[in-house]
Amino acid sequence: MLIEEYELEVFTPPCEPGAERFSAIAHLKDDITGVLPYLNATLKGAIYNPAVPALSWTRGGRKVVFSASQIAVSNLRDRDEAIRVLESEIERVNRTWERRDEITPSFHVRKRPTPLAIYRLLPQTNCKKCGEPTCYVFATKLAAGQHRLSDCPPLTAPEYQESLAALQEMLADVAG
Ligand code: SF4
Repeated sequence: MLIEEYELEVFTPPCEPGAERFSAIAHLKDDITGVLPYLNATLKGAIYNPAVPALSWTRGGRKVVFSASQIAVSNLRDRDEAIRVLESEIERVNRTWERRDEITPSFHVRKRPTPLAIYRLLPQTNCKKCGEPTCYVFATKLAAGQHRLSDCPPLTAPEYQESLAALQEMLADVAG
């Protein structure tokens, strides 16, 4: 087992004082750098940065960042959810480490598209059908994995067919 113990920290992000969502960090006693290329090989859409080292992954609107001695998770409801989500990610790390002989590690570094690159392909009508005040806010959240392309209904109109195809291709490598 790679991770045996951790200390939990739950907090409100400093950029969102008063927010009702929380972030949490599992401070690990063990160094998990060695498992990151194996997670990169198995987690679709993970963004790996060997220089840090860190690997981030978005799942269900929640960003998970694995680094040498921490696992950080955002967008949590409360402390109970923080414990549940972090224990599930710790189990994922341990399971991946135990199976490492069956996995070819990946050192591939994916690039997440910028909000501006996404915005240029959106309808730019600010119609709010996605629930966001502007297309640019939608682009920012799409880039962060907090929305899906299907959340923008106007993109299915025939005149946006080419834009939709370009967006699908742009996001294919990083869609969580
Ligand atoms: S639904 Fe699409 S077009 Fe409308 S505001 Fe959202 S991103 Fe823009």
